[in-house]
Amino acid sequence: MAIRFLNTYTRTLEEFRPLDPAGKAVKIYTCGPTVYNYAHIGNFRAYLFEDLLQRHLESSGYDVQRVMNLTDVDDKTIRGCHAAGLPLAEFTQKYKDSFFEDLATLRIKPAMAFPSATDPVHIARMIEMIAHLVAHDYAYQAEDQSVYFRLNKFPNYGKLAHLNLDELRPSGRIRNDEYEKESVGDFALWKAWDEADGDVAWESPWGKGRPGWHIECSAMATELLGPEIDIHCGGVDNIFPHHEAEIAQSECCTGKQFVRYWLHCAHLMVESQKMSKSAGNFYTLRDLLEKGWSGREIRCVLLSVNYRLPLNFTFESLAGARSSLARIDAWVARLTETAGDEPHASAHPLASHNRFQQALDDDLNISGALGVLFDVIRASNRALDLGTFTPADARALLGWWDRVNAVLQFQREAEGAPKAVLDLVEARAAAREAKNWALSDEIRAQIEAAGWIVKDSKEGQKLTRK
Ligand code: AMP
Ligand code: ZN
Repeated sequence: MAIRFLNTYTRTLEEFRPLDPAGKAVKIYTCGPTVYNYAHIGNFRAYLFEDLLQRHLESSGYDVQRVMNLTDVDDKTIRGCHAAGLPLAEFTQKYKDSFFEDLATLRIKPAMAFPSATDPVHIARMIEMIAHLVAHDYAYQAEDQSVYFRLNKFPNYGKLAHLNLDELRPSGRIRNDEYEKESVGDFALWKAWDEADGDVAWESPWGKGRPGWHIECSAMATELLGPEIDIHCGGVDNIFPHHEAEIAQSECCTGKQFVRYWLHCAHLMVESQKMSKSAGNFYTLRDLLEKGWSGREIRCVLLSVNYRLPLNFTFESLAGARSSLARIDAWVARLTETAGDEPHASAHPLASHNRFQQALDDDLNISGALGVLFDVIRASNRALDLGTFTPADARALLGWWDRVNAVLQFQREAEGAPKAVLDLVEARAAAREAKNWALSDEIRAQIEAAGWIVKDSKEGQKLTRK
């Protein structure tokens, strides 16, 4: 079965076909964080759905080229750096660093590039795009010296958000990066400097100023991925006005269809309420880590609901993730024990990789895919109980799990293994190198006696807690 995605632009389920004539490369642009604060778990829901998308495409044989931008200049970052009394770059660097730490904690695969809007290369590209838009009458400099996109020159504006512009009364020009659907109007591409900007400014053909948020993404996306992109993602709040504006700017510059498939994840709710600072139900990843939850458990919760459905975050759901992961850990440990020393094989009749993959092919149906995993766990545990499971069966099933885990990233890490255990692992590697299987088995037993399980994979030995 082919991969299908629900495309926000058409509101239909469409078969995925990459632009690459060889059918291999897939270009994905994902709107990244505005680095004025620690990212919250709502943001990470979006980044985790994008991680699932990338990993599923890769496990299906595609070569994914993903870009995620860092918005390090906009209305919010400027307000933030002034409040903190820091230069903009110093203020945003702290949140960039913490963002990368958080990505690693959640096992999110890094994008191919994380461009920053303030990189001189990208500022130059933004200015070049705006100049093109002005030259072709898609944009104009107004009396306030800012440059605005001329909305009535782009009749497709509103199509992504499914707005009927004829029914909306344009409200004039908009300088803010974010605005409501009721106030559709010419939006700012270049914002003329004002006092509130302080020393945040760049020279341009329209005088001193700074780019609007929307042109940042159009510039970085087309600069790094070219004029045509396969998939563009974000949370539903990005659809309007941000992605709508990205389409208008990019297509008026390049004359090409900017994006083939638009994928947006629904919002994260907390205890059935929309997560917000004012409601006091606002969590960063760090808040949850401090409460004793692990990155793996948080990953599991944020990933386990299909991305198009709202996700209600609760502490019961975290506890549920903890017990699901414990079940997986126990199953992997049991299989590893049964498998013996030989490498993992590829398939087992109990576990068709296809069924797991087919669920994800269907617009990343993660609940279906997890259903397949837990069916397999149940059936193989029963066979293990009955003693009908051979070491070859276990190796085959572990081979399947390796591929499933390459997408889910749910396997327990060997973090915290004591040095004595690591030394044993090293000694075992030497024994295996010398084809001394008896010694290798003996060392394995010692590792197990110390509370750890070692298994052999293509990348070498892997340690998990018993
Ligand atoms: P921002 O830093 O606000 O630009 O958001 C970064 C990404 O997180 C965007 O793709 C947003 O759509 C997404 N996002 C923000 N809040 C939520 C939420 N509560 N649930 C899911 N995604 C969100
Ligand atoms: Zn963006």
